[in-house]
Parts: sequence; C-alpha cells; structure tokens
Amino acid sequence: MRKTKHILVTGAGGFIGHHLVNRLKDEGYWVLGVDIKFPEYAPTRADEFIQLDLQFLENCLKATEKIDEVYTLAADMGGIGYITGNHAKIGRKNILINAHILEASRINSVSKLLFTSSACVYPQYKQETSVLSPLKEEDAYPADPERGYGWEKLYTEQLCTYYREDFEFDTRIVRLHNVYGPEGTYDGGREKVPAALCRKIALTPDNGEIEIWGDGEQTRSFLFISDCLEGLRRVMDCDDGNPFNIGSERLITINELALLISDIAGKRLNFQHKLDKPQGVRGRNSDNTRIRKILGWEPSIPLEIGLKETYVRIESELKKSGRI
Ligand code: NAD
Repeated sequence: MRKTKHILVTGAGGFIGHHLVNRLKDEGYWVLGVDIKFPEYAPTRADEFIQLDLQFLENCLKATEKIDEVYTLAADMGGIGYITGNHAKIGRKNILINAHILEASRINSVSKLLFTSSACVYPQYKQETSVLSPLKEEDAYPADPERGYGWEKLYTEQLCTYYREDFEFDTRIVRLHNVYGPEGTYDGGREKVPAALCRKIALTPDNGEIEIWGDGEQTRSFLFISDCLEGLRRVMDCDDGNPFNIGSERLITINELALLISDIAGKRLNFQHKLDKPQGVRGRNSDNTRIRKILGWEPSIPLEIGLKETYVRIESELKKSGRI
C-alpha cells in the first residue's frame, strides 16, 4: 500500500486543472497531469505531465494506470461564443473523453472519480429573466439544458450515476458556476466574460469605449478559482455522489461586472452593447443550500478581491507581450 495517494488531473494544461495540480501538490499528493497541451501561463508542478488525447480509450487506460483518484477537467469548452457555435464538435469530443475516462478508471480500479459538470445543465425555461430564483440541484429536471455543451454534461452526470449503480464505481459530481481567476484564457475566442472584460478594459484608454455582448443586463454569479478548488477537494473527500453546485450566490449584471473591473483599472469607460452577439440565458444564480447543509461550507471570496487579482495578472501579461 502506497503512503502518498496518486492523483490524475485531466485537463491539467487548462485553467482550473493547472490550479488544481498546484493545490494537490501543496497538499503533498503525487500528481499526474494529462492534457493535449501544456499550461499557457506558468509551468506545471505535476510530478509527471503527459500529452495525451483522452478521446481515445487506450490513452485513458494509460493515464489511469496505478492511479487512486481522478479529477476530470478535460473538455473542449470556452465562453458563450464558442459553446453556442460548436454544438456537434463539443458534444462529440466531450462525450468520448468522459465515457472513456470513466471506463478506463473502472478497468484500472481507480477508487474515486470526480466529474466537473456545469451550471449549463440547468433548464433554459428557469433562466428567462435577469432576476430569478437561484438554481437548486434538483431543478435540473425536467431537462432542457444548454444545447451541445449542457446536454453532454447532463448525460455524463447520468453516466457517473449508472457507473455507481451498476459497477459500484465511486463518482462525485460538481456543477461549476462561471469560474474566473488568474492564469485563465483571456484571448483567442475561448475566454469567458470576466477575463474578456479584463482584457478589453486593460487595452482601452481612459474615457474610451468597450464592447459588451447583449444589453449587459443579463445576470450571472462568479466563482473565484481558490473557492472552486476548495469545493472540488471537499466534494471529492465527502461520501455523497449526487451533484453539488459550486458557485457564488452573488448575482450581478454584466454591466455591473464591467463597472467593477473599470473601477479596479481606475478608468471611466463607455459601453457599446452588441445586441447581435450571443449572451446565453438571461439570468443564472447558484443556490448553495445543499453544499452548506452537507459540507458545512460555501464559496466566500468577494468578487472585488478576486477580480482585482485577475485584472492585475491579465494587465501584466498584456504588458509583457507588448500590447499595452
Ligand atoms: P479549459 O479549457 O481551460 O481546460 C480544459 C482543458 O481540457 C484544456 O487545457 C484542453 O486542452 C483540455 N482538453 C481538451 N480536449 C482534450 C482531449 N481530447 N484530451 C485531453 N485534454 C483535452 O477549461 P476550464 O475552465 O479549466 O474548465 C475545466 C472543466 O470545468 C471543464 O470540464 C469545464 O467544462 C468545467 N467547467 C468550467 C467552468 C468555468 O467557468 N471555467 C464552468 C463550468 C464547468
């Protein structure tokens, strides 16, 4: 019996996966990172990092050899523009990755697997207004998730449940709500709204104009990366296999988010609203009743603090690359 747990993080070259590797290393675990690419903004601290395409079962079998626990973060994903424009590609790739990592983990007798699902599983009919009831885990049914990405996440949640029931294979499920923080993608088309706004605001002079998709009155809640990691660790270590929301309960409009970041940057900016661009559901918030009750914990890092750290990092990256 090994003293140190061996943990696999898939998607370890991506935003959350890279931070999770650091967190697990800080806790003393032996960590294998797998991805098709290396992290973009800082070197990995994984004990081993292998470039593998996890759409293929043989690669998943290789990745899960002699592994105790698996965190599955590998996915083809991006911001609202990307996920609404690539339903077939995202649906096919992610279902292959998730089905194969589950099966390989079972074959290789992994003790536990955590699947990162998304707030995009919640029904669109419950998200038609800016001010709305926060979403509880049981609200996911009757199902009407985001096309492509949301359906794939919801189906993989089901698959995790079937593996628990049919094979007694232990799974955990988290539904993440808009994670943001330093060392995430901020350019190129896959970036999410907080990073995109930080980039636009950093690149725009005081009194200039930035583009906002939609009328900016759509609402979301945003989860800082260190709260996300704490939630992932707590859910993995608990004994409850049903889905948990991991999200902030602070609802904010995209216009308010842009104002907060402008304040951090010390700029006054005009917003040009692009009504023809995708904006996703009209409103979405996390209900944390279940995680509070079962785990006695919920995310707590104030948006102002997380955004400041994120903005400063993106601004410094842009300076380093000569764009400011
Ligand atoms: P990310 O895009 O930064 O990371 C995903 C990683 O998966 C990327 O590095 C990518 O190269 C890798 N990947 C893609 N296809 C692969 C393949 N075939 N084989 C191996 N690796 C592959 O995304 P993220 O923000 O770090 O998200 C991590 C997970 O959390 C994803 O599953 C995502 O759906 C989920 N999630 C994220 C958020 C969020 O706000 N960031 C919200 C809900 C759910």
